[in-house]
Amino acid sequence: MGANDNTLRAALDALPLLPANRAPLAPEYPWPAGHQAAMFLSFDVDAESAWTAKDPARYGELVTMSFGGYEARVGTAKLLEMLRGLGLKATFFITGWSVEAHPAMCEAIVRDGHEVGHHGFHHLMPQPGDPMLVEEVDRGLEVLKRRLGVVPKGYRAPSGEFCEELRILLKDRGLLYTSSFRDDVRPYRHLLADNTPGLVELPVTASYDDWLLGLSQRYSRHTLQSREAVLSMWTDELDEIRDWGAMVTTVLHPQCSGRPMRLRLLREFLQHAQGYGDVWIATGAEIAAHFTACEAAG
Ligand SMILES: [Zn+2]
Repeated sequence: MGANDNTLRAALDALPLLPANRAPLAPEYPWPAGHQAAMFLSFDVDAESAWTAKDPARYGELVTMSFGGYEARVGTAKLLEMLRGLGLKATFFITGWSVEAHPAMCEAIVRDGHEVGHHGFHHLMPQPGDPMLVEEVDRGLEVLKRRLGVVPKGYRAPSGEFCEELRILLKDRGLLYTSSFRDDVRPYRHLLADNTPGLVELPVTASYDDWLLGLSQRYSRHTLQSREAVLSMWTDELDEIRDWGAMVTTVLHPQCSGRPMRLRLLREFLQHAQGYGDVWIATGAEIAAHFTACEAAG
């Protein structure tokens, strides 16, 4: 064994022999008003910040930027119009940068009565030991308050990563829930490393991340999926979850799902979900409030 192998073995042997996430299992609270299952309908509004987070120089690449810009020019307004037509309210997790750069788009989201959640400032992936962690959270909070008058209850990690420092920070800043983890089909409460309770988690359903279902052959390694492929995936997931009495969480991006063919299939999927009559389609704040009410009732 070489020196590197020994270093690796020492690092591996230093890991605790415990699950990385030590939160207790999700309690099986019944859904409100006789609903059989739930759908947390949520969007991530990244605009250009999705493309600049890893390389700020890309801001000068105007066609790359235009994928994000589509959100403010077309995508979000079209999605808002569709949600109005279906009578649905959703949660929009917005980066602070997007609020500053596209205030009119964000004001329209608020005006329609949707929930606004925290999604970082520059869309930096939260990683352990990251010196930008606190600033990303605090700057995001400041902008949402100043520009939109919003004090967010919910947080979704940009690029879907998390760490213990962030769990502590969000609790300290008074957030109620996060929607970032991939490890359950029901809401649960985080447990911090010091064994105190953390935020409520509304786990994400990876198959509802439209970014992974194709955006553009030019920029994405994911092939653009057809309506049939996406709809069958989404309805299969929901149909089974409904049998389980559990919950799905969408991770939709206006730069993907605000595109015409994508919006059309999303509308069809949401109508399918509404057609059951017993799937509770709700915002994160509503689902987290239901969870905490059940928890308090014991
Ligand atoms: Zn995002």
